[in-house]
Amino acid sequence: MTKQNKTKETDNKTTKAGKDAESQFGFQAEVARLLHMMVHSVYSEKEIFLRELISNSADACDKLRYEAVTKPELLADDTDLRITISADNDAKTLTIADNGIGMSRAELIDHLGTIARSGTKAFLDAAEKKGGDAPAVIGQFGVGFYSAFMVADRVEVLSRKAGAKSAHVWLSDGINGFNLAKATKAQDEAVPRGTIVTLHLKDDALDYLNESELARIVRAYSDHIPFSIDFVGKSEEDGKTERRQLNSASALWTRPKSDVTQDQYKEFYHHVGGLYDTPALTIHYKAEGRHEYTVLLFVPTMPPFDLYDPSRSGRVRLYVRRVFITDDADILPAYLRFIRGVVDSEDVPLNISREMLQNNPIVAAIRTGVTNRVLSELKDLEKNDKVAFDGVWENFGPVLKEGLYEDMERRDTLFEIVRFRTSKGDDWRTLKDYVADLRPNQTAIYFLTGDSSEQIAASPQLEGFAARGIEVLLLSDPVDNFWVTTALGFDGKPFQSITQGDAEISAIPLLDDKEDEEDNKDKAAPETAKLVEALKTLFAEEVTDVRTSSRLVESPACLVAPAGGPDRGLGKFLEKQAGKGNVKPVLEINPAHDLVKALAKRKAGAFDDLAWLLLDQARILEGALPENPAKFAERLNRLVLDGKKQN
Ligand code: ADP
Repeated sequence: MTKQNKTKETDNKTTKAGKDAESQFGFQAEVARLLHMMVHSVYSEKEIFLRELISNSADACDKLRYEAVTKPELLADDTDLRITISADNDAKTLTIADNGIGMSRAELIDHLGTIARSGTKAFLDAAEKKGGDAPAVIGQFGVGFYSAFMVADRVEVLSRKAGAKSAHVWLSDGINGFNLAKATKAQDEAVPRGTIVTLHLKDDALDYLNESELARIVRAYSDHIPFSIDFVGKSEEDGKTERRQLNSASALWTRPKSDVTQDQYKEFYHHVGGLYDTPALTIHYKAEGRHEYTVLLFVPTMPPFDLYDPSRSGRVRLYVRRVFITDDADILPAYLRFIRGVVDSEDVPLNISREMLQNNPIVAAIRTGVTNRVLSELKDLEKNDKVAFDGVWENFGPVLKEGLYEDMERRDTLFEIVRFRTSKGDDWRTLKDYVADLRPNQTAIYFLTGDSSEQIAASPQLEGFAARGIEVLLLSDPVDNFWVTTALGFDGKPFQSITQGDAEISAIPLLDDKEDEEDNKDKAAPETAKLVEALKTLFAEEVTDVRTSSRLVESPACLVAPAGGPDRGLGKFLEKQAGKGNVKPVLEINPAHDLVKALAKRKAGAFDDLAWLLLDQARILEGALPENPAKFAERLNRLVLDGKKQN
């Protein structure tokens, strides 16, 4: 994602050195909000700042290693990429340094003054709602660089972009914006390449000067970082400065499954996923055969803040022989974008440009293989651990369902995974469950779409189905409107909207047979035919047809869509989105209902008010407004008052 530079240069002291002069900048509003939270944080696990800074350093090393594939001169003679931690007890400073890609002046302004992550605003809103500090939210989101201000009251970032002539210093107290200056001679010499972050620790954070404490934190959160993380300090024996490696520095996914503990998986997931829950499912395997690649993927237990971001792309990282290439190769389709992790290929050429990746046949084969594997693992989870699968479905069900119309090839596989709320009760139901409980003569899978499950469950169209014991899928996610229109069916049964066309359910027996006889008597009555004709004339502009219904039991009327076009749910959805797309409905009436019987008996003059109320009522039951609310009120008042007069 491109960052918009929303920082403002507020005090540009123009000197001979031009833009390299010292300058003062304000933070982007969202950064200021985040920093306010960090500075005042009482979050107890402040130690995560180290994980975040190390993670940034590791990413910087990854980026350099990738760039150096085509430009080896960037590495020069410093080829050993690593992260170095050191502490100065007198100055009360902690330093985290890397010899990675580094940042230019513009990048320092851009990256450390704005936030690129799309879910940031949602995160801030959630955190502020929970009282500003919101440990749970901070812990789960991973707040990045700015978390340094939980433990430091001043942070200095000295950085030189690989290959650049000059280095720059970014300095901030986390409150009043930041200052940017060209590096002094001493600073310039201190950073031949990469970034040095110096934290001036707050008095209550001096524990982080302690090597054993730092070693504990590194082992807890950053052991798997594939670069060496060293502490540089004085040797106890001879007082000389020495490097001591704190982590095991091996790419976790390359180790055999049996050598990796659950904690190590979890810690790695936090690093690659930027999410801090416990994964619901870990998928780790090595594909061998025509193409060789290793896969380590995680299904989160909580939804990331940007799950519904319009850019909707996945974040699986692609490595080639341990070199990070990109997290933008769309290894998984958009409907699996909640999955995090790594794919490491042995066969993709290392010097492939990111643009060429899109069309590379090996990457295409990896995409297919990994996507199929993820779906089969989800199917297994559904079979073997219903509780875990329930959690996945609650969080990501609506996203997975996007696959039902985006991935025709795998639709049948997805049909085995998806679950539904139905008119049968509160439990999730699969299509297999549904088909196993078909009623005699039932040939279709019935569904009803709408805005919310409450509104759907109250729909009059459901009544006839309930009376016949027919289960109906209740679909309230926006994506439902789309896949149902393209899906061909499941197990040979087509999907059929209960708000569209003529519901041919009379062949399915009622649970209580007597009602059927009554119902047919009323339907066949000559008054009914006359009433239908009168309504057709009155509502010629409003509806395409009027007919008696087998859908209704308790309610006097409902609206349905004519056969062929979009059903009522999709029609209303399109109307809401685009202001058009809906077609005139069909009015169905229930001849057995007292109100309809009363209407049939009305004389011409008294007929219209009650007829209009019948139509408006059907609209209201769909969650819509009467076409003309003022007229609706007028008619209702007239009817009530007339009724009073007659009494
Ligand atoms: P994130 O790492 O999630 O993108 P951060 O706020 O932690 O968010 O960092 C913002 C950006 O600053 C990073 O994406 C990266 O471009 C840059 N950055 C931070 N630390 C370093 C570093 N040590 N070396 C190079 N770039 C860095």
